[in-house]
Amino acid sequence: MSESQPEAESKPASEKRHKASAVEQRPQTPAQAWAALQAGNDRFVSGHPAHPNQSVEYRGELVGGQAPFATFFGCADSRVAAEVIFDQGLGDLFVVRTAGHVLGATALGSLEFGAVVLNIPLIVVLGHDSCGAVKAAMSAHETGTMPPGFMRELVERVTPSVMAAYRAGSSRPDEVEAEHVRHTVKLISERSQLLAQRIASGHVGIVGLTYALAEGRARKVASIGDVE
Ligand SMILES: [Zn+2]
Repeated sequence: MSESQPEAESKPASEKRHKASAVEQRPQTPAQAWAALQAGNDRFVSGHPAHPNQSVEYRGELVGGQAPFATFFGCADSRVAAEVIFDQGLGDLFVVRTAGHVLGATALGSLEFGAVVLNIPLIVVLGHDSCGAVKAAMSAHETGTMPPGFMRELVERVTPSVMAAYRAGSSRPDEVEAEHVRHTVKLISERSQLLAQRIASGHVGIVGLTYALAEGRARKVASIGDVE
């Protein structure tokens, strides 16, 4: 990880100007960041992605620092790659992933780093259909059999979402997946005091999305803060 730091005195003025403008031009508010992501997802869904910020030149320009505009906390599923789905490039997204987007202390620390050190205005929780972690938790809940090793940890952290969905009369996998996204959004805002402060002051928003594998569309199922 590299922090955005003040430019060193020795750098040429043109480089300083470029970096300053890149930071100024990126989405500044939670609502602007969410709008930029929706536009990128539209391009991806329509089959006309722009593949921005992936040139050799741009790669070089980023060496001095990063200024991503959205933090992602998503499932590790290989089909749910944030930069591809939202048509973004290098330096655009700060991405944290675990299977089933299960939240732990180190993931929370990464989200805090994005908000506090990199000043990123939006956190996106990204779940999806056909999620193996959700399936495993539903299966464990129904059969009482836990998976071996540390995979048990994943199932234990998805189970509260399974139980909440079942209590609400929702037992379809897509309903449980949406509930797990809502649960994760709530958990982030409740467990991190640093993030709660930034949300309260309007500097940070959270959106929870479920991604449809076949269609390519990410839909909002939860939000906190001024994201619209
Ligand atoms: Zn998944």
